[in-house]
Amino acid sequence: MSPTGGGAVDDSEFLFELAVCQWAERAWPPAGTETGDGDSVAVVARQIGTKRRRWDTVVVECDPEGLALRANFGLDELDSDLLHVVRNAPAEWTWYRDALPDPGYPWRYVREAVHEAADRGVVETRRRSNNRVEIRRKWVYPDWVERIVAIENKPDLDASAARALGPQLERDVAISLADEVWVATTETGGTVEPALIEDVPVEAGVLTVDAAGDAAVSWHPRSLPVDDPGTRILERPAGGDRDASAARFEYADPEWKADKRLELAERAYGRGWRSYADTMRPDCRHFRLTDESAGFLPYCAAKECHPTAGECSGSCSEFEPEPPVWRSGDWPISGGPGKGIKRLLERQRRRQRPELDERA
Ligand code: SF4
Repeated sequence: MSPTGGGAVDDSEFLFELAVCQWAERAWPPAGTETGDGDSVAVVARQIGTKRRRWDTVVVECDPEGLALRANFGLDELDSDLLHVVRNAPAEWTWYRDALPDPGYPWRYVREAVHEAADRGVVETRRRSNNRVEIRRKWVYPDWVERIVAIENKPDLDASAARALGPQLERDVAISLADEVWVATTETGGTVEPALIEDVPVEAGVLTVDAAGDAAVSWHPRSLPVDDPGTRILERPAGGDRDASAARFEYADPEWKADKRLELAERAYGRGWRSYADTMRPDCRHFRLTDESAGFLPYCAAKECHPTAGECSGSCSEFEPEPPVWRSGDWPISGGPGKGIKRLLERQRRRQRPELDERA
């Protein structure tokens, strides 16, 4: 039960986002949708994307066996440079320049990535007498990503929010980097106003989230052609009588899209959605984690509310560090409650990454 008496998902966009992430982790895919082959596992992350676009919530539907094998490479994400190394590392010792495809940028950066991959224990390297660095793989990088779903969270989907969201979602649909795009909004007792949905592209799905943090489908999305070339909308005219300018587009080729999708999935795997504890102040004596029907949510005992990530920061006027005694004798977990909360969230994150506890 919320200390505020319930309805935590209504409180702020941040809490709504956490509630959507927790729901997706326990209940994806939404009832009544036919996504994947039915046995996929959902890895959920928040606030990740590409250089140009960041999504509130990302769900990666994973092949269970592939996901378990991904654990060989550790919890941390593999960025594009490391992916280039681990995906092309050979079974037998080979000079790295012979083993890896020409990256299209200077080899010295590849060499740095090879060393970084070796430091992380995801490939093996050795130096020959001629000073050449050879590389050998430890594991085949698995095919673990089935589908990627992007969700935009708009708890208050009123007319102006829907109008602002429409062009953004049109861009998502045009580039088709995600297999599906959705808008999640709060349940208002009835269905979402048809007039609001009119501003949202027909390809985007709509989820309504109730006060308990459960979501239902109000509008089914269309699967987007992720393997086809995408269209990147760079600029579009505002329209109207005075605006005769032309829209500007460029194409996103399927290889670029496939690479970006894998980088996105890696980011989701490594970051998850619980990293808010890294920027908030669980080390404040007033910080709590409350167990709501919508899931665990941060709570401030001093302000008697669920604070946003921005409020609960070092600049908060009511911040008070944990008393030192909490960090020693009286507290059963070393490091005090703040560290304990971080460890709890970290354990929960690892539990969603099968095989990781044993291997990483
Ligand atoms: S007092 Fe400020 S820093 Fe402490 S938990 Fe509350 S919001 Fe966070």
